[in-house]
Amino acid sequence: LHEGANFATLLTAAAVRFPDRIVIEDDMGALSYADLDARVQAIAAALAADGIGAGDTVALMCRNHRGFVEGLLAVSRLGADVVLLNTEFPAPQLRQVLDRHALSLVIHDGEFNSVFVKAGYEGRRVLADSQGAPGSLCSLAARHEPAPGPRRQGQIIILTSGTTGVPKGAPRKTPPLAAVGPIATLFNTLPLRSGEPVLIGPPLFHGFGLAFLAVALSLGSTMVLCRRFEADKVAQLLVMHQVKTFVAVPVMLQRLLDIPAVGRFSWSFRHLSTVISAGAPLGASLATRWMDTHGENLFNLYGSTEAGVGTLATPQDLRAAPGTVGRMPLGTDLRILDSDGCALPAGLPGHICVRSGMLFEGYVGGGSKPMLNGYMNTGDIGHVDAEGRLFVEGREDDMIVSGGENVFPLEVEEWLSAYPGVVEVAVVGVKDEEFGQRLKAFVVAGADADFGPETLKGFLRERIARYKVPRDIVLVAELPRNATGKVLRGQLASR
Ligand code: ATP
Repeated sequence: LHEGANFATLLTAAAVRFPDRIVIEDDMGALSYADLDARVQAIAAALAADGIGAGDTVALMCRNHRGFVEGLLAVSRLGADVVLLNTEFPAPQLRQVLDRHALSLVIHDGEFNSVFVKAGYEGRRVLADSQGAPGSLCSLAARHEPAPGPRRQGQIIILTSGTTGVPKGAPRKTPPLAAVGPIATLFNTLPLRSGEPVLIGPPLFHGFGLAFLAVALSLGSTMVLCRRFEADKVAQLLVMHQVKTFVAVPVMLQRLLDIPAVGRFSWSFRHLSTVISAGAPLGASLATRWMDTHGENLFNLYGSTEAGVGTLATPQDLRAAPGTVGRMPLGTDLRILDSDGCALPAGLPGHICVRSGMLFEGYVGGGSKPMLNGYMNTGDIGHVDAEGRLFVEGREDDMIVSGGENVFPLEVEEWLSAYPGVVEVAVVGVKDEEFGQRLKAFVVAGADADFGPETLKGFLRERIARYKVPRDIVLVAELPRNATGKVLRGQLASR
């Protein structure tokens, strides 16, 4: 890892070491490291001929397939900056982001033509991929002069999901030298082996998916990619490619467990040695159910776009301390601080704050890291147990204040999930004249479940304080989620 290292250099190194290994398996088939390297070179040459180079910013809006990887690596190879666009962006949000970044070029899947037209960025030319494969079309959308000001070189700008406003851009140089400690811990703790197949479930435009693209390239592994997460299809891919490492957000694990068994046949994923869950809270009951069904292979990674890797829990941690997100890696200093920035002792909840070489560099167009006493405040509340294991209690923004009492939805959700037949659950605060806010739960029930709201309330009353029991419990068919599987609580609160 040297200062100029980026995604493109990871590929160059892997293509020399493992030219004949398969790097990507997607719906277009298998692609070798040598072939990917050649394709990236050809695309980079075409982009360079079009005037793209260091100092330009290129946006990428692709689902998980080789086109994403080729676009990202070609732009990185030229030393230009890349903005990774969320494939779920509606036109107005897309426009806000595109306008802010003064882009030279947008590379996107053909399926997003209409959203770009709606956003006022009409495609001008199309660079067809050499196999004429639809998902790998690169469309040159709009061209601006690069913005004046200091030039960044080869940064990857990951966007926050924008649940609370315009998605913020959080740039980082990859991989920063100071991140060696946390990365070394990941490689020491996760049983990853060079060349073994990895299925990356979360979108590659999100920090979590992207991190495992870097891991797979570093290890010379095969990435199994799937444009959209569909449980049946992913189950088939896991078995077909005898996948060893599965990178997932918790709802993906839930959906895989809920695939109905056909007769006496149910899916067995015994070949999986490492399942890494991240991006959203992994409920203790879901973790236990996964390990009871598919073995002791589950790891829980806590982190964020801004902080990078925070902590990692091993299967042993998840058994010994259900609900934990584990311990901090080498080179990361994680503290629980009160609002004045003073460190809190084990057991007491406070702001989860970190200091490490993995932190982002401040938001694009202003907005610095939220700091508290020299540490970056993650915006999450949690506590550490006597053994140094972290527990995330919830996001500060999600806290519900009902009748003067603070409630984190996660705790109530965890208890509700423990009721047999409850498949998914979200708890939000809604306006209440008497209490300021009151709790409302949305519950997705399994096919054979036959309980009603009163049964669930009775179940909760026996387990948690009365003020934490939602006044309203509504059964729904599904929960609204963003592309990384997080429940869109804002949408539920306004229902
Ligand atoms: P937003 O725009 O709403 O901030 P985002 O999608 O950009 O969302 P991310 O950086 O992806 O946010 O998510 C980071 C947050 O997700 C963490 O701060 C934490 O609240 C939650 N999170 C991530 N991993 C875990 C985990 N393993 N356990 C609990 N919470 C987690």
